[in-house]
Amino acid sequence: MTRLATIADAQGPRVGAVLEEGRVLDLCAAGLAAAADMVGLIEAGPEAWAQAKRLAAQPPPGAVLPLVAVRLLAPIPRPRRNVFCVGRNYMDHVAEGDRTRGITQSEVPKYPQFFTKAPDCVIGPEETIPPHAGVTRWLDYEVELALVIGREGRDIPRERALDHVFGWTIGNDVTGRDLQRRHGQWFKGKSLDRSCPLGPWIVPADELDALATGIRLWVNGEKRQDSHTSKMIFDVKEIIHQLSLGFTLKPGDVVLTGTPEGVGYAMQPPRTLQPGDVVECEIDGIGRLRNRVAEG
Ligand code: MN
Repeated sequence: MTRLATIADAQGPRVGAVLEEGRVLDLCAAGLAAAADMVGLIEAGPEAWAQAKRLAAQPPPGAVLPLVAVRLLAPIPRPRRNVFCVGRNYMDHVAEGDRTRGITQSEVPKYPQFFTKAPDCVIGPEETIPPHAGVTRWLDYEVELALVIGREGRDIPRERALDHVFGWTIGNDVTGRDLQRRHGQWFKGKSLDRSCPLGPWIVPADELDALATGIRLWVNGEKRQDSHTSKMIFDVKEIIHQLSLGFTLKPGDVVLTGTPEGVGYAMQPPRTLQPGDVVECEIDGIGRLRNRVAEG
C-alpha cells in the first residue's frame, strides 16, 4: 500500500512515501519534482501519481530516510479552501443525536447536510487539540473517512465520482457541541482553531475500497466508536455527486464524510474531551491518527 505523507525536517516540508520498517522515501530527493507539496503533486496528474507509486514500490536507497528523522504534517497541511463536511451521515449517529433532544423516532435525512470547517483548522498527527475552555464546555470528537479530490469536476455523476478522488485519509471533526447547537448554523461549533486533525497520510484512491472498511475511535484507549463505512446514509459517490452540483470541486479539496455513533455528548452520562485526553482514530486500510488534547 502506498502511503503519501507530507514530511518536514530542517529542509522544510515536501511529500514522502512512508515505507515499512520505520523508513520514509523523500519523493523530491528521488527525482519527482512535483512532490514539493501535496497539492502540487495532485495537480501534476495521474502520470506523477503513478511515478510516486513506482518509486515507493522500488525506493532508490539514496532517498530513503529514517521515519524518526522527519515530522509528519497533515497530508494537506493547509487546504486552499474550506474543508467540506457531511453531518448526520450514519443512521445510528442520527438516532443518538436525536435522543439527546428527546426524539425517539428518527427520520433518515433526504439530502446530505453539508457544512465546512475553515482551512486553518487543520492540524497533523500528534499535534495537540486546544481544550478551548471558556469558549466551549462541550468539546467532542468524530472519526471520519476523509477523501481528497484529485481531478476537478462539476455536476459529477454518481457513477464517475470515484474518478475524481485522489485518495483517502482520516479526519477528526472536533466539535464544540454547545456552540454547534447555540448558533444554529454549525460553522461556529465546527471551526474552532486546530479542530481538524487530518492524516497520517493519504492512501491512493485505487488502493482501498473506502466504501466498505472499518472505522474506529478510542479515547485514552477506551473504544468509543466502532463502525463500517458501508453504513453511510450517503456513500462517497453520492456525496461527491451532490456536493458537485453547480459547485466545482478542485484538486486538493478535502471532504469529511460523516461520523458513526459513539460521540461523547450522546453517551449516558455525556462525556466531554478533557485536557490530556488522547484521541486515536483508525480506518482499516489507512492507519491510525493520534492527537492529544492540550493541557491549556
Ligand atoms: Mn462530523
